[in-house]
Amino acid sequence: MLGLMQGRPLAIIDILRYAAAAHAGQEIVSKGIDEPIWRSDYAGTLQRVSQAAHMLFGQGLCAGDRVSTLAWNTHRHFELFYAAPGIGLVLHTANPRLPDEHLIYTINHAASRVLLLDRNLVDVYERIASRLATVETVIMLSDPERALPGYECYETLISGREDSVDWPVLDENTAAFLCYTSGTTGDPKGVLYSHRSVVLHAFAAGLSGALGFSAFDVVMPCQSLYHATAWGLPFAGAINGVKFVFPGDRFDGASLEALIESERVTFSGGVPTIWTMYLDHLKRTGHKPTSLKRVIIGGSAVPRQMAASFDELGVNVQQIWGMTETSPLGVVATSTPALAQRGREAELEHIWTQQGRMMFGIEMTIRDEAGNLLPHDGVASGVLLVRGPWVLERYYRTPQSACDPEGWFDTGDIATIDELGFMRITDRKKDVIKSGGEWVSSIELENAAAGCPGVKVAAVAGVYHPKWEERPIMLVEAHEGALLGEEDVRAYLKGCVPAWWLPDRIFFADVPMTATGKIDKKLIRDRYADVLRDVSASG
Ligand code: ADP
Repeated sequence: MLGLMQGRPLAIIDILRYAAAAHAGQEIVSKGIDEPIWRSDYAGTLQRVSQAAHMLFGQGLCAGDRVSTLAWNTHRHFELFYAAPGIGLVLHTANPRLPDEHLIYTINHAASRVLLLDRNLVDVYERIASRLATVETVIMLSDPERALPGYECYETLISGREDSVDWPVLDENTAAFLCYTSGTTGDPKGVLYSHRSVVLHAFAAGLSGALGFSAFDVVMPCQSLYHATAWGLPFAGAINGVKFVFPGDRFDGASLEALIESERVTFSGGVPTIWTMYLDHLKRTGHKPTSLKRVIIGGSAVPRQMAASFDELGVNVQQIWGMTETSPLGVVATSTPALAQRGREAELEHIWTQQGRMMFGIEMTIRDEAGNLLPHDGVASGVLLVRGPWVLERYYRTPQSACDPEGWFDTGDIATIDELGFMRITDRKKDVIKSGGEWVSSIELENAAAGCPGVKVAAVAGVYHPKWEERPIMLVEAHEGALLGEEDVRAYLKGCVPAWWLPDRIFFADVPMTATGKIDKKLIRDRYADVLRDVSASG
């Protein structure tokens, strides 16, 4: 027997329609790309989104057509997050930091007909333009005064258009966003979010067991809008009527601090690299945040020292884990009464060092290599599998499912889960270091090294060793002016990790990063592949 409730489909545009009705005057502020700061509110944004929808419709696009953006964190990009899916188009948020080959691949694979780009990404576009097979129209996200000649201008195109839309009622499974994984192994893979998955994710992300948003929050997304829709913040925030502050393309410490202080930002999020720059800046200037209360950090493991530094400044850090394939929220580190009972210190330690706690909507399990279920005891570690309404079923343009017959998606991460539901990543399957048959956790080693005074970033990778098959090596990027030698790092690590985990070699060098702000382990493995090859096999 079916229930007798309304079957109104879940639609992304309804999030903004709600915010415009219930939080009409709540501000949306954005830094421009060399433009003055932008101020509007939800009601004004819905009007502009409507105009943008009319403009896109006017480009002769049909339902299901893909539209790509090559853009930073601005209000115009945010508007497109609602305008394109609102009329049944699919927004492909291209990542300008990808190597050209991958960028070209994603836009061609998406077969986008329209490309909307920020003015300062024109160089990237012009470099790849001749190899884009399907793009018919290029629109510059700019005001008319600054738009470059030869390009259509977004503001000119939307101005004067009708500022309301009779939004079509779409099947809730209609595709809405196309996000590509960064392709650190092979070609990037497309993950196609639906209206249903985005709206359910937005509901869940706002819960108190996740990001716990309210209309009193002032949210500045520092994770890129092009990276898994900035972790869904544009939707989770709007559902809760938060004030939004978009930082444009400026993620250096000084710019972030200025905007956080002037707009009284209370909540932000991003990958650890961003927060390293911010904390460095505060340390150099001696400034302290006066409005910031919470920061969520994810994308790669949060160094314990980073969380402790924020704590000293009165800012709570919550680690989160997710991936493009999970829309991307999988877990967020939030406390429980049982954890709080262990005392403040133990509670904080858990929140800082675990990737997060299970949230409703994402089921998780860990299995050993033979596929046996492992206990949730915080000790047994195995392959992490997830399933739920915002986990991908299969990649775009592939016929076969990415999941097993029971719907489990293999995340490629190795993790433990404890009795309180906290999940901790020990490694990525492809980054695991197997020394003499035993696992060394590269993440734990990096984390330990990050606590060593003078270390800015540490990266660990496994390379070939004639006796142990693989041994860890470490790259250390030191803070400017830090007097730090290999022996200092080694001595520090001795107190933190088992002796046999100590890296065989420590190099002082820049740590290479991927286009999504993760340590590029593949590059390190390639670059340093032979450094232990000549070590004596009896050593
Ligand atoms: P990519 O395209 O590089 O795969 P994703 O953002 O989808 O980009 O990467 C997801 C992966 O990032 C996860 O599978 C995990 O390995 C890593 N990751 C994300 N958050 C964390 C975290 N808090 N700690 C450790 N690793 C993380």
